[in-house]
Amino acid sequence: MIACRDCDLLHSIKTLKQGEMAKCSRCGSLLYQEKGNSINRPFALVISGLILFMLANYYPILSLKVIGTDTSNILIAGVFALYQDGLRAIAILVFLTSIFVPFLKLLLLFYILCPLAVFKQKPPGLAVIFRIYLTVDCWGMLEVYMLSIIVAISKLGDIATVQWNMGLYAFVGLFLATFGASATLDPRIIWEKIEDNA
Ligand SMILES: [Zn+2]
Repeated sequence: MIACRDCDLLHSIKTLKQGEMAKCSRCGSLLYQEKGNSINRPFALVISGLILFMLANYYPILSLKVIGTDTSNILIAGVFALYQDGLRAIAILVFLTSIFVPFLKLLLLFYILCPLAVFKQKPPGLAVIFRIYLTVDCWGMLEVYMLSIIVAISKLGDIATVQWNMGLYAFVGLFLATFGASATLDPRIIWEKIEDNA
């Protein structure tokens, strides 16, 4: 059974075809939908995300040219700079939301999806890992860092020549891949797998 999120009416769950969605018979709001490929698609995005994560952390994000001097910074350097400037809480927040949590999310998804996609088997401790993933999911905020990059570009644009680097493109790609992986992952499918031979 599933309860409508808006009006609490109970419905029994039926199997849908790909692309179909189930709506509440009373208020018409979406109950659930069959996204299709809900293991392989997020898995492909997780792999791309992991590669882009490496690139985003390896290549400089921006380089600045201010009267002759040329500086370029990798992602983690921004965190160190904030820390050294005494903005320790912000440095920790930026580190958690734009480096640690996004990486942890990708690793957890990889652990969940790789055995399901490749070996058609569920990994040990799937229920626990999936619950950790759902908790962590709302704490990865790559957009926080994205926003700070945009602010930096617009503020420094007047006094320095700002050049976009490989790392920034990788970072934007990472943002899209992580967002896509969460969006295409159907939690219902994972819960069904957990129930399967429980
Ligand atoms: Zn309803």
